[in-house]
Amino acid sequence: CGIVGYVGMREAYPILIKGLKRLEYRGYDSAGVAIINNNQNLNVYKAKGKVSELEAYISDKDVSGTIGIAHTRWATHGEPCKANAHPHYSSSENIALIHNGIIENYAVLKNRLQEKGYTFKSSTDTEVLVQLIEYIKVSKDLDLLTAVQLALREVIGAYAIAVLDKERPSEIIAARKSSPLVVGIGDNEFFLASDATPIVEYTDKVVYLEDEEIALIRYGEDLKVVNIQNVSVTPEIQTVALN
Ligand code: GLU
Repeated sequence: CGIVGYVGMREAYPILIKGLKRLEYRGYDSAGVAIINNNQNLNVYKAKGKVSELEAYISDKDVSGTIGIAHTRWATHGEPCKANAHPHYSSSENIALIHNGIIENYAVLKNRLQEKGYTFKSSTDTEVLVQLIEYIKVSKDLDLLTAVQLALREVIGAYAIAVLDKERPSEIIAARKSSPLVVGIGDNEFFLASDATPIVEYTDKVVYLEDEEIALIRYGEDLKVVNIQNVSVTPEIQTVALN
């Protein structure tokens, strides 16, 4: 039900946790984070219950890294439990994805992937999407963005997603359709969230993504936006009132 992301020079974890707390008002049943550390490990941690329970679970774990994504889940497909909490890994554990919304045609997509030998660790609709992205990327030898675009063209439903790939340790790919997603543009850092509340304490420059748009959020580069058909979009940077 809530998405937060960060890439920049600061440690991502405190910003992600604070952001999840700002989104708690939306309601949720579980929470999780994915962070790429400086050794290019993609660490995923999740817990059923409150963000504070996630923090307690994580207290002895490696949460270092300057790029990460975080999620609060309001279950639609699959009971509230740790296995169904986001982020979801792809089979290789190279890609992690968070999702708000519903993949309506997940059963068809899941069957197709199972026929190709994919197995699933959760009963969510969301895990199908991360597996589909990996399948397309690996089987067609494509870059992550193209794989995300092709996967999203097959999706029927609503999504706000954020994707991390440990082969691309300074990039978040984020996309939306019918579920809100906002990118905050700071000074050599980017924020991502379901609404502006986790962002406004850091920057007043935001871009509201439109349906079927994909944000390429890369450390050290300007924000790029394309749509799922790979047409470039000029991001419209808005100024929001700071708290
Ligand atoms: N449909 C997804 C799930 O049940 C995402 C739910 C949400 O928006 O939090 O895991």
